[in-house]
Amino acid sequence: MMIMNRNKIHFLNNHILIIAIFILSYSKCTTPNINNDKEDIDNSQDLKTQNEIEVQNTVNNNLQPPSLNKNNKAFVFDFDLTLTMEHTGGYPDDHDLDYIFANENNISKIKTMFKKIKQKGYNIYINSRGVKREIENKLKKAKLLKYISKVYGAREREDVSNPLFLRKVWEGKTQNEKPTEQWALIKTYYLDQIAKQGFNPNNIYFFDDTSKNIEKASYKYPNSYKIDKNHRLNQTISKVNNILIVNEKHLKPFDFKE
Ligand SMILES: [Mg+2]
Repeated sequence: MMIMNRNKIHFLNNHILIIAIFILSYSKCTTPNINNDKEDIDNSQDLKTQNEIEVQNTVNNNLQPPSLNKNNKAFVFDFDLTLTMEHTGGYPDDHDLDYIFANENNISKIKTMFKKIKQKGYNIYINSRGVKREIENKLKKAKLLKYISKVYGAREREDVSNPLFLRKVWEGKTQNEKPTEQWALIKTYYLDQIAKQGFNPNNIYFFDDTSKNIEKASYKYPNSYKIDKNHRLNQTISKVNNILIVNEKHLKPFDFKE
């Protein structure tokens, strides 16, 4: 009897021990780890803050439209003998691309120059005495039009030799001037239209092979460059490259407060 009781007690003790171990193990598994949870909360707060910073940065970046950049530059090209190898007489539709640019290689050179200008975020314009619509046609065929913000030129063929049509839109006085003189003033007027789009006159670079155009333009636009007829496109490219390199050295980061 006594033996049985001892065995019973031993049996019960064993069971109590197993149950105690089980309860302890269970309790350890289910007890929340306060430190780990705190860490998780902290991490989530860090992520939220990081997201907020990123959103704020995006908003700030969007507050800086390119037109407000005081360093923005306009590269303005005459068409005939500044970009082209032959003169179209103001009527590009009368000639094919091979005549105008001499060969495919010259078109590639212009494309490379345009790409360099655009890569810096600057703008390209054409300022020509030739018929605007016809210049656009040829530039489109040469796959160059997409780089250009706007083409300024004669509205109709008769305007090339008699630009008096522009008196209505131009406030200058050109009645007694010869067509070349009138066109020089009109080209400066077109530069004024470009400047109104938000360019500082010092940031407008104008290239033209006609001395009179450069002479008139340079009173208001000091960065007007005469292209020598004998060098044409190569000289235009060389001048643009020099300007881009100099600009790179002197470019300052844009400051909103200024
Ligand atoms: Mg020209």
